[in-house]
Amino acid sequence: MEPAEALSEAVMGILKEFSSKRLPLNCASLKEIFAAREEIVSLLAPDIQANIKGQQPSTVCGELCYTLPQAPAGHKELELEQLPELREAFLCILDGLAPAIKGDNETRFSLLQEEICECRSLNLLGRFGKQVGAMVGELINMAVKDTDYSNDFLFELSKDLYQMEQQLSKYQEFNRESCKISNEFYTDISSYTTDIHHAMGPNKDEADIRNLIHSKLIMISESIDDKRKSDERRAIEADVKIVELQNNLKSYEKELLQIRKRSEVLEKEVLLDELTKISNRRSYDLHIKECLREYKRTSERFSLILIDIDHFKKINDNYGHKAGDKCLKEIAQRIKSTLRKSDFLARYGGEELIAILHGSDSRSAQNVAEKIRRRIENTRFYYHDETIPVTVSLGVTEVMPSDTEPEAPFIRVDEAMYRAKKGGRNKVCSSTALFMASLCNGGQKSVGEESALSVQRPGA
Ligand code: GH3
Ligand code: MG
Ligand code: MG
Repeated sequence: MEPAEALSEAVMGILKEFSSKRLPLNCASLKEIFAAREEIVSLLAPDIQANIKGQQPSTVCGELCYTLPQAPAGHKELELEQLPELREAFLCILDGLAPAIKGDNETRFSLLQEEICECRSLNLLGRFGKQVGAMVGELINMAVKDTDYSNDFLFELSKDLYQMEQQLSKYQEFNRESCKISNEFYTDISSYTTDIHHAMGPNKDEADIRNLIHSKLIMISESIDDKRKSDERRAIEADVKIVELQNNLKSYEKELLQIRKRSEVLEKEVLLDELTKISNRRSYDLHIKECLREYKRTSERFSLILIDIDHFKKINDNYGHKAGDKCLKEIAQRIKSTLRKSDFLARYGGEELIAILHGSDSRSAQNVAEKIRRRIENTRFYYHDETIPVTVSLGVTEVMPSDTEPEAPFIRVDEAMYRAKKGGRNKVCSSTALFMASLCNGGQKSVGEESALSVQRPGA
C-alpha cells in the first residue's frame, strides 16, 4: 500500500475512533479529547488532505500530538476503570497505522503495541499516546518523502530523455553533414571529369590536353584522399556517438525496468492486506464489480460468503492484541485453503472476511460455508501454550438479476450473517426470500418478516 493511501486510511481511522464515542465522557481529560475531536475534524482533516498531496508535514504532526490525550494529573481513581477502553482506542489507532508500517519500524511498532496492551497506568498510556502521535507524524513525512522520491525519479528520467533527444538530433545533423560532404565530393569529381571531357575536343593541342588531364588527375586524387580521410574521421566520430547513444539507451532501459518493478510492487501492495496477506477491501471492491459485469454478460452465477469472527473483542481482551492478530492471520489462511483456487477471498474490514464463489449457487455456497464453520470450530488455535477457542458466523447469498450495484448482494449477505449472530453465533445463515422481497418493496415491512429486519448491524 502506498504510504499516502495507508496514511489517509490511518488518519480516517483515527478520526473514526474519536467519533465512535467509545471513550467515556465522565473524565475531565477525556472530555478534552472529545472537544479536540471537533478540532481535528474541522482543523486537521483539510490539513492532512493537503499534506498527503505533499505539503507541510510538520504542522499536522504537531497538531496531532497536541490533540492526542495527555496524561491527566490527579485522576488516579479513574485508572482502572477507564484504562481498558482507552487502551483499546489506542490499539485501534495502531491497527489503522499497521498497513503503512514497514522495515525497521515494524519492531518498534510491535513493541509499542505490546507496551500499550500491557500498560496499567494512565500516565504511562498518555506517554504512549505521544509516541502514537509521533508515529503518525513520521508516516506523514514518509508519504511526502515518497512523493519527493517519485518526483526526483521522474525529473532524472525526463533529463535523460532530453539528453537522448539532443544526442539524436546531433546525430541527425552529423548525418546531414556527411551527406553534404559526399555531395560536394561527387560534384567536384564530376566537374573534373567534365573538364577533361571538354579538353578532349577536336583541334586541341596534345600537350595542353596532357597538362590538363595531369592537373585534373592530381585534383581528383587529392579529392579522393581528402574524402577518404574525412570518411575515416567521421566513422570514428560516428562510432563514439553510437556508443554514447547505446549507453544512454541501456541506462534508460534500466530505469524503465526499475519503474516497472516498483509499480508492480505498489500494485500488489495496494490490493493486499498487510496482516493476513489475503486481498484487501479495495481488491474486493474491484473484483465484485468485475463479477457483476461478467454476470450481466454471461449469466454465470456466483455467491458471496461473509465471515465474522465471534466475540473477537474478547480474544483481544483475554489474550492480547498480538494473539488476536495471529488468530486473524490463521483463520484467513485456513479459510483460503478451504476454498477452491478460483474462488476469491478478501479481508473486508476488521475481523470480517468475504469470499466470492464463482459458479456456485446458494446451496453449494452454504455447504462451503458450513465446511468453513466446522473447520474453524475444530481447529485449535494456540498462543503461548494457551488454546484459544474460536468460532465464526457466516452469511451466504447468491447473485440475483436485480443486483445492479455491488451493495445489493452485500446488504443481503450482511443481513444473513447478522442473523447467524443473533441465532447464537457459530452458525451459517442464507439470505431469505422474505428479506429479498422486503428490499424489493423499498424496505417496507410486511407480516412475517420481522425476524429478518429486526437484526440491525450494530451502529448501522
Ligand atoms: P461479534 O461476535 O458480535 O462479532 O463480536 P466481536 O467482538 O467480534 O465484534 P466487535 O465488532 O464488537 O469487535 C470486533 C473487534 O475486532 C474490535 C477490534 O478491536 C478487533 N479488531 C479489528 N481488527 C483487528 C486486527 O487487525 N487485529 C486485532 N487483534 N483485532 C482487531
Ligand atoms: Mg465484525
Ligand atoms: Mg466479530
